Formats: sequence, structure tokens, C-alpha cells
Amino acid sequence: MMIPQESLEQALKQFFGYDTFRPGQKDIIEKALTNQDLLVIMPTGGGKSLCFQLPALLKKGLTIVVSPLIALMQDQVDSLLDNGIGATFLNSTLNWDELKSRELAILNGKIKLLYVAPERLLSEKFLFFLDRLKNSIGISGFAIDEAHCVSEWGHDFRPEYRKMILLRYRYSDIPIMALTATATERVKEDIVKQLGLQNAETYLSSFNRPNLYYEVRPKERQSYNELLTYIRTNKGAGIIYCLSRKNVDELTFRLQQDNISALPYHAGLNDEVRSTNQNRFIRDDVRIIVATIAFGMGINKPDVRFVIHYNLPRTLENYYQESGRAGRDGEPAKCILFFTFSDIKRVEYLIDQQSDETQQKISRQQLRKMIDYSEGTECRRIIQLSYFGEKFKGNCQNCDNCLQPKPVEDWTIESQKFLSCVARTKERFGITHIIDVLRGSSKKKIMQYGHHLLSTYGIGKDRTVEEWRMLGRSLLHQGLISETTDGYSVLKLNKKSWEILKKERDVKIAVTLSKKDQLLKEYNLKNAEGEILFERLKGLRKYIADLHSIAPYVIFPDSTLRLMAQMKPQSLTQFANISGITEYKLKQYGEQFLSEIRSFCQEQTLPIKLPSDSEMITLSLHQQGLNVNKIAEVRGLAISTIYTHLSNLIEMRQPVEISHLISVEKRQEIVKVIDVKGDVSLTPIKEELGDNYNYNEIRLVRSWWRKSNRTC
Ligand code: ADP
Ligand code: ZN
Repeated sequence: MMIPQESLEQALKQFFGYDTFRPGQKDIIEKALTNQDLLVIMPTGGGKSLCFQLPALLKKGLTIVVSPLIALMQDQVDSLLDNGIGATFLNSTLNWDELKSRELAILNGKIKLLYVAPERLLSEKFLFFLDRLKNSIGISGFAIDEAHCVSEWGHDFRPEYRKMILLRYRYSDIPIMALTATATERVKEDIVKQLGLQNAETYLSSFNRPNLYYEVRPKERQSYNELLTYIRTNKGAGIIYCLSRKNVDELTFRLQQDNISALPYHAGLNDEVRSTNQNRFIRDDVRIIVATIAFGMGINKPDVRFVIHYNLPRTLENYYQESGRAGRDGEPAKCILFFTFSDIKRVEYLIDQQSDETQQKISRQQLRKMIDYSEGTECRRIIQLSYFGEKFKGNCQNCDNCLQPKPVEDWTIESQKFLSCVARTKERFGITHIIDVLRGSSKKKIMQYGHHLLSTYGIGKDRTVEEWRMLGRSLLHQGLISETTDGYSVLKLNKKSWEILKKERDVKIAVTLSKKDQLLKEYNLKNAEGEILFERLKGLRKYIADLHSIAPYVIFPDSTLRLMAQMKPQSLTQFANISGITEYKLKQYGEQFLSEIRSFCQEQTLPIKLPSDSEMITLSLHQQGLNVNKIAEVRGLAISTIYTHLSNLIEMRQPVEISHLISVEKRQEIVKVIDVKGDVSLTPIKEELGDNYNYNEIRLVRSWWRKSNRTC
């Protein structure tokens, strides 16, 4: 089928509301329309789904999407339905009636995309159903999502994926598109082989995710406070990864104590709790998920704004995939890694527990890479992308090392002090003890060994413990000192150490910024007005989502809300022009969002008036349930003054309960008159209403009328 160039863009706008394709999407879609087998490798958030969804809509017949996780299926189907696209899934959560009615809808050609799990796909019964479909409405293609699951070399091998080669035998003329975010050569070859792809073209897009900001922070004693400040000063949903279940539970508890909306997720919780916690996160009912690495595979929440690793990941690939769960929507998001030496020890310990020696060796190399990344002073993307065989030129301007290059300082003298202390203590101690000696600590252990008598005792008081630790780490990583791997981490001098002591070698280390400087950078002052409207639109989205029991981002992604907040459309036509708005969405939600934006704009043009102290006291008594007469009595003020207060408070949008002040019937009568006469003074309204109404009541209702009429 030939599709003219411009109409692919039109179709993109029509079905998904986007104006432009993400890198690679268009080529892939064009190829898919020629019915070839394809292997698509794109990083998380690259926009893989669209690569099979759009062709499915443009081709005749039904596309079968194989997806390993029920939650993912549900999510994608919800999103498609919300774009007015015929999509459905068949899985074990449906009862017989639901299954039958869905099958009927499929046979009637109402569905363009059908999601199934591999187990079902390969059942005898389902294959017959497929035959029937092929001969009636036609099957336009198979899309195999998370295709790395066929490979033992990938991280989530699933045996049932292996049987899928049957599709190639049975339906040799129907194209298969395999999709994954795992890029290693082995996995790639395996996918082609195990799925029996024919002359498949491979699309490998760059693994660079320009919208993600990468940062590594030293983890110190107060790092919990730092984490807390981070969460409080950054907006949006976040994931925090920890190494163990225990860490997860402890951290969640602390955050909850500090009034952060957080829930745990790890393999020790039962299925039900896990899926509830996950769903609450997806639906923005909870802001933070604290998790072990078990969390993430089934999540395609696109608007995760930050991923924090509170413990060291074991491999750079893990780090890339886990941190990559941030910012799938292409909006700016942050990936922060807290790095501490003791975590390295923990991971090393775990590696030592492995029985297979070659595996241990691989793990050690992987850990080494992870440490290189964490301690690196060059652009973070260079090390990260080299892991995937990509050459990156550096200077990304979106990582800590590019934005705040760490000053490199000459610490030769400090190094000499440190190393000679190691020598004087006879190379029998670890870093902590060396620092204690340098800083002149009076710990019992020092006295026991007589180390307070050494010439190096107390010569390092001018530096903090953290600074000495930073130096020790840097010496280790530059190979300027060695350390035993017997579990005791005893420092040993090597050839290079002696060169330093003999003044034959200088030592330069990258110095980390002080905490205060870092915190200051956190407070990025954003466009405050846009930010307020954005939050309000998010509130409206959440409200609508809850009403329909769907995830908020299904309605509009953050990027679309942000555009709304920036452009502040005033008409449906202007609204329709925003990227992400389809005709369908316009009909569904246009009016609601438009009216929220309009009322925001109107409020902005009104001078901001705040209640006076006296008005605030009246408000507080009103909220305590006192009636007007009582408030007047308590305060020693005239009744009419209290009414004036309350009227003003209503106009200032303070929480006054008008139903406690006047009956609904009376209010309606007064409103009727004002609707006709307009916003006039009290006398003409009173004349119209007659003696049954007093000025106080009329003033109150007029304020209420003003407030309501300004918002719509
Ligand atoms: P992946 O499966 O590759 O991780 P998704 O298919 O889930 O990524 O897409 C990630 C996000 O990007 C989704 O929210 C999707 O709606 C959005 N997206 C995809 N293509 C585009 C595009 N061309 N323009 C804007 N947003 C897009
Ligand atoms: Zn960089």
C-alpha cells in the first residue's frame, strides 16, 4: 500500500494528536506498511507502541499484539480506546460472557488491535480463532512486544516466548514486528532466530535519552534529609530504588512519617498489595514508590519525573533500564544516583555469594563499570552509551558533570599524609581507622594500638571525615593504593603509592560540590504562573480520570497539559491546535479543560485581594459553625458588618458555606433578579424583591453570583 508522505503525519495527528514523529518512528512505519518482518530496538520511552499501532490502523484487517503483562495490555488498550480507536485484549481476567462479546466485536471488524499474552496465543483454540480471522477480516500483522523475552541472554527470559516460532510456520505470509529496549548483540541475534524473522530489517535507534538529566551524589550521613528535600522541592511522581526489601520498608516508613505520600514495592509483599500499590502509583493516588528492582517491568507510566537510586545498582545496564523509567513522555526528568562506598561493599558481598566462578568474574567487571560511571568526572553519557556500543561525543549539557564540572584539585600533600599513615600503621587497617588516626580521634581502638603516639596522629584535623573519605576513594579508583578483597578491606601500599610518598607523582582529584551549593541548584525558579495553571489542569485531569477509573495520563500526557498551560487557548479551535489533542479528545474533554483555563485567566486579571485580619476571624468563627448573630455577639460587631465580611470573603473565594447563611429558595429568587438586572447596586434588587428580603441577604447572594459568574 502506498501512503503519500504528508498523509502519515496527518494520520498521526488524526489518531494520536501528535504533530511530529519521534526519531525512527516514521521509517519504521513506512517499512511496516510494506509488510516486511522488522526488529525494532528503541530505548524505553522511544515510542515503540506507535510503530505498530499506526500501521495497524492504516492496514486492512486486525493486528495481533503479543504482550507479556496483563497490566501493560490493559494500559495500552485504555489509551487506545480513549483515542477512539478500536482495541481490546483477551486474557484470563475476563469471564466467559466478556470473552464471547469481545470475540464477536473482533469478528465484526470493530477492532483494529487485539492484545493477547503468549500463552493464550499459542493455545489450540486460539489458533483456530486466528485461522477464522485470517479467512474473514484478515490479519494485518503480529507485533511482539518485549521481544527480548525469547532470549536467555536477556533479563526476563520467558520460555513460552520460544514457542512463538509457530507463528512463522503457520502464517508465513503475515509480517511480524518484534520490539524491545534491550540492545545487546546476543539478544538481537536470538530474537531473529527464535522468532524465525525472515529477511528482517533491524532498526536500532540511539540509546541516548536527551530529556533525562543524570547526576551522581555522594551519599553521606545526612543523605536522608537530602532525599527528603529533593522530593519536597521537585514536583511529580518518582521512583526510589533500594537494594533490599528491608531498605525499602524502612525508607517508605520514614518518608510516610515525614508526610510524603509513598508506598513500598518488593517481592516480599503479596501479589494483591503489590498490584494495588502499583495501580495507585499509576493513577497518581500516591506520589512515590519505594522499590527493589522487582518494580518497573510492568509499568509504562510515562510521567515519572524522577528516579532515584538510593543504593548502588549492580550493573550499568540495570541502572540504564531502571533510571530510564523516568520521562518516557519526552518531558524533562531526573535520574539521581546516591553513591557510597559501603554500597560497593554490599554488592561485592553479594557477588561473593555466587557459586559460579565465571559469573563472579563477570559480575565484578560489571560492578567495576558501575563504579567508573559513579566516580567519573566526564560527561555521564559517554560511559553509559559506550556500554551499548555507542560513541557519544560528550558535553551533553544535561548531566551533573557537564553542567557543573567538578573542580580538579591538587591533593598531593593530603595524599602523602594519608599514605604515610597507612605505612605507619603497618598496612593492617581499613580506611575508617586511617581517618581516625589522621584526625586525632580518641577512640579506644587507637589507644589500644598506641596509634596516638604515631607522628601522623592528628595531622589531618584540617579536613573533614568526608573529605578524607573522598580522597581515599579517589586513590583507590585511580589505582594509587590497593585494598584487600578478603572482606576486611585492608589498605595496602602499591608501587604508585610509593611514588607519591617519594614525591615522584602528583595526585589530582575531582572535588565534589558542597551540599549547600547543590541544594541551591535544586530550587529552579520556574515560570510560576504556568506552573500554577499546570497543577490545576492536573487536578482536573485526576478528577476526570477517577470518574472513569482510568489512569490520568490516558486522558492527556503531561506534555499536552504543559502546552495548554503555556498557550492558554481561549476557544475550541485554539485548543484543537495543541499537540496531543485529537478530534476525539477535543469532543470528550475540550470544554472542561477550556473552561478551567478561561477561569484561571480571568482570575489572573483580577487584582488579588486577600482577606483582612478581621475578616479572617469572622471566617474562622463561621467555620466553627457559629451563625451570624452569634459571631456579631462574640466579636462585639454589628450584624451587617459580619455580613459584609462574609460577602467579601465569598468574592475572595474563601471557604464560606453559603447554604448555612441563606435558604436555597431565597438564594434562587435573588439570583433570578440579578440575572435580569446584572451586577447593579443593592437598592434596585431590593425594590424588585420586596420586604421579605433584607440588604444583608442580597449582598451575600450578589457576591456569590459574582464569584460564580467570573468562573464560567
Ligand atoms: P516505549 O514502549 O518505547 O517505552 P511508548 O510507546 O510507551 O514507549 O511511548 C512513550 C510515550 O511517548 C507515550 O506516552 C506516547 O504516547 C508518547 N509518544 C509516542 N510517540 C510520540 C510522538 N510522535 N510524539 C509525542 N509523543 C509520543
Ligand atoms: Zn554530559
